[in-house]
Amino acid sequence: MEIRKVFLTESEIPRQWYNLLADIKLNPPLGPDGKPVTPDMLAPVFPMNLIEQEVSSERWIDIPEDVLKVLNIWRPSPLIRALSLEAYLDTPARIYYKNESVSPPGSHKPNTAVPQAYYNKVFGIKKITTETGAGQWGSALAFACSQFGIECKVFMVRVSFKQKPYRKSMMETWGAKCVASPSSETKAGQDILATHPDTPGSLGIAISEAIEAAVTDTSGQTRYSLGSVLNHVLLHQTIIGLEAKKQMEKVGEYPDIILGCAGGGSNFAGISFPFVYDKINGKDIDIYPVEPAACPTLTRAPFVYDHGDTARYTPLLPMHSLGHAFVPPPVHAGGLRYHGMAPMVSQLVAEGIIEPKAVSQLDAYAAGVVFARTEGIIPAPETNHVISSVIAEALKAKEEGKEKVILFNFSGHGLIDLVGYDKYFSKELTNFALSEKEIKAAEKVFENFPKPELLKSR
Ligand SMILES: *Cc1c(COP(=O)(O)O)cnc(C)c1O
Repeated sequence: MEIRKVFLTESEIPRQWYNLLADIKLNPPLGPDGKPVTPDMLAPVFPMNLIEQEVSSERWIDIPEDVLKVLNIWRPSPLIRALSLEAYLDTPARIYYKNESVSPPGSHKPNTAVPQAYYNKVFGIKKITTETGAGQWGSALAFACSQFGIECKVFMVRVSFKQKPYRKSMMETWGAKCVASPSSETKAGQDILATHPDTPGSLGIAISEAIEAAVTDTSGQTRYSLGSVLNHVLLHQTIIGLEAKKQMEKVGEYPDIILGCAGGGSNFAGISFPFVYDKINGKDIDIYPVEPAACPTLTRAPFVYDHGDTARYTPLLPMHSLGHAFVPPPVHAGGLRYHGMAPMVSQLVAEGIIEPKAVSQLDAYAAGVVFARTEGIIPAPETNHVISSVIAEALKAKEEGKEKVILFNFSGHGLIDLVGYDKYFSKELTNFALSEKEIKAAEKVFENFPKPELLKSR
């Protein structure tokens, strides 16, 4: 019988994260004066130990024992050969995926929520605020905070708050508080409600609210936490790719193609960055981040300096951006509706080291249904996007008669997101095509900001 699952023992879990910042050049984040931000400017928002990680250029960073202890609840995660999907597609390609849906909240997100809660705890922080899109991040942070005895407050994008009520139930079960964003609890929320009372909300708005709630808490013991985009978040996710590398080695394989869906870029970075290191050092691999066509940050938006949030509380980040005021269409893949993209992922695209793809909502769901009916696991709407591209690559390999080895990240399951599947089956789901005009209009917000340099890392 062919091998279907590849496991690592608990003692084989990676003990260090891989930091891509050691191997690429990045434009610095800029403050309101147009000058690079200094670590102390971020101190009201993040604990200093995480700020140090954010700017570190050490290639390998130790994972603390207390973090490993919690990650061990579900890690190492299995590497699975998608034998049934391969047979269904009748492809010579061998398809492998890392199953990140086995974590308690059901996605890759606790890989960073756990270390973030830990570093806050060590720094003496008592409460963490955050935003959440589809609710995956909010539940991951709620879970992590419960492990370390920290209070957790989540601002959840309004449209998802309505679409995905069980996410709130999960957060509350782990002891967190969750409100719909925009809320009347912050100035950022009140301003939006005054001008756009019916807004579906956006990650940009919810981030503004969560940052404001953290920095206006006068106790000094509250900080904010972000579930994607930032360097330290991507760093924590590299445990996925590092495990995958060991698991592929165990079965004598090495990927030709690597894919991950991309919202803020963290699960894609997690699976791919340890292999990007190999590519920078000469390996021939095709690496594809996959995003929704309705929120085409990497495929259609320019590489610019822009804010990470709508109220412009964050520094200017060098990234592909649809504009910080962009409110994406209410597609079901809530986790992929961010206007920006991780600076490290954006930099790799700008340099041509990785190549982005976009998938429509209907193609994504069609692929998700194929996956559920072959491999058995019902994917998250976000994950459906990468599966669509995986199927396309496997069919291309069949056409070309090539035995490609494909590795992708199965970022989460869809058991809390079944409403989208219902709508897909009842044909209520549609594709959203953004016109060039809409994209150009959204870009107005960063017209007058400084422009990032086109740096070359290799
Ligand atoms: C949040 C989420 C994503 C997108 O976020 P990234 O930071 O781009 O990884 C993808 N898949 C799932 C299941 C998610 O919860």
